[in-house]
Amino acid sequence: MTQSPLLKVRDLTTSFFTSRGEVQAVRGVDFDIHAGEVLGIVGESGSGKSITCMSVLRLLKNNGRTIKGTAHFEGRDLLELSELEMRRLRGNDVAMIFQDPMTSLNPTLTVGEQIIETIIAHKNISRSAARERVVELFELVKIPEAASRLGAYPHEFSGGMRQRVMIAMALSCDPKLLIADEPTTALDVTIQRQILLLLKEIQSRLGMAIILITHDLGVIAEVTDRILVMYGGTAMETANVHHLFDKPMHPYTQGLLASVPNVNNIDGEKLKPIPGSPPDMLRPPKGCPFMPRCDKAMEICVTTGAPEFEIDDAQSHKSRCWLHHPDAPQQKGDAA
Ligand code: SF4
Repeated sequence: MTQSPLLKVRDLTTSFFTSRGEVQAVRGVDFDIHAGEVLGIVGESGSGKSITCMSVLRLLKNNGRTIKGTAHFEGRDLLELSELEMRRLRGNDVAMIFQDPMTSLNPTLTVGEQIIETIIAHKNISRSAARERVVELFELVKIPEAASRLGAYPHEFSGGMRQRVMIAMALSCDPKLLIADEPTTALDVTIQRQILLLLKEIQSRLGMAIILITHDLGVIAEVTDRILVMYGGTAMETANVHHLFDKPMHPYTQGLLASVPNVNNIDGEKLKPIPGSPPDMLRPPKGCPFMPRCDKAMEICVTTGAPEFEIDDAQSHKSRCWLHHPDAPQQKGDAA
């Protein structure tokens, strides 16, 4: 893509300062997202995917600090804005939804009231206009009998319907970017798919960009344009979605894909879990964070993290692994 990115993140580095020491949660992450694009950020728990987005929106709790980096949204570095400017931006230009809607909704107020208040706080419109807008939003997210559900309390909705309410709330101020952090993890598989397809449908209708954070590669193939794979607080590989599934180049991505159930697996081939466990971010490996689990690790991987190698520009494919260096030993299966 040639137009400037909507959000351009460079060298983002975030740590948590705990009684046990510095937890290096995000270590020099770079990524872009363009207007109207759906980017999936994938990785195991603790890979830094949520903390990356929370750092960009400056939502970290007291002991978390972004130490360096930039996050330009429409040209303005979010890490340099005042608190007031950030408050205006959150909810207006950028909205975020989380895994468990119950933690974001107030159980003592009707859902209609909560969204009306959000709209009035961000837009200069009357209560009755805000109410009409909520009905429109409920229809957009396919809540049946939209007008009559405004007076219901959060506990009166099922998990899937509550997540639809959260999506309606996030869309209430027409954000240019929606960040959805594991929005379907707490839901059963059928509802998960419905919510993801709903997000995709709304995205194509409204033209906003979405960052979809998930630990599950299987759930996002249908709805994302591009995927960023994170591990050990680092962006390991990125590519257009179908290309990444067809030609994963990073050993971690290859391991992740081999561990995802595949409905086309009619030969009964067993899933292959990645051996070992994720790094302790109090003491992350000095070189490549995946080194202790990588069966292709070389001497250089122990001491030095790999730079990002351009694999295929047309597919936005980049990977951070020493195997892509021209002098790296050829791997089995590489073209001769
Ligand atoms: Fe494996 Fe080395 Fe590549 Fe890391 S840089 S994934 S350890 S081969």
